Amino acid sequence: MPRAKAILFDLDETLIDAQAGLKATHHAVARRLCQYLARSGAKVSEESIRAKLRALDDRMNVTTKYNRDAWWPVLLGEIDAEPKISRSLVKELTRLYWATYAGASEPYPDAEPTLVYLKGKGYKLGLVTDTDGSKGWKKRRIKRFRFTGFFDTIVIGGEDTPHTKPDQESFLLAASNLGLRASECVFVGDKPFTDIKGAKAAGMRTILLKRRDWGIGERADLTISSLAELPRVLGDTE
Ligand SMILES: [Mg+2]
Repeated sequence: MPRAKAILFDLDETLIDAQAGLKATHHAVARRLCQYLARSGAKVSEESIRAKLRALDDRMNVTTKYNRDAWWPVLLGEIDAEPKISRSLVKELTRLYWATYAGASEPYPDAEPTLVYLKGKGYKLGLVTDTDGSKGWKKRRIKRFRFTGFFDTIVIGGEDTPHTKPDQESFLLAASNLGLRASECVFVGDKPFTDIKGAKAAGMRTILLKRRDWGIGERADLTISSLAELPRVLGDTE
């Protein structure tokens, strides 16, 4: 791979451990919904709500429907409960979802050392992530990570641009913020159907960080299974 000038990253499940965060989040939301349903006499186990929420989370991610407020009536419909819930409970569940996720999703151990290494090698660094569905949530989530300071540009698709990935505009905005052409950037992300598809369409070289098999989506130029492999595949380990 010829030397790139910038390495751009996705956030969730690329730099931070989304699976640990989601596990805690699904527990918290299922517990709250179980309490809510018990009050109206419904007999649904917390475990079955959690299983349905896990499946819903995957489905909504694949179809890039990130607005959690819209998830809860769908989830209730799937657990055979009345899908009409109050506005205040919708808001409470969304708040609970993001607060739990933010508190439980830590960076992967190799995230910061990799960014430090790349910065030291003279690469510009960027973060191209998507909105959490409610404006401002993502920015607050990003701020708490120490590695945020390493990025020369941060673009939140769906907030800084009209659309989320895989639309190419957030990738192009990040390149333009760095004063580079897309072809001078390498994009590293975990989702073939958003990260790789969008970055490729924008004209970037792509590296899929394969945390799990999604079974769908674009092929990247390279595939790695951990961030620690990046220096080697970028050809900089002399
Ligand atoms: Mg991701």
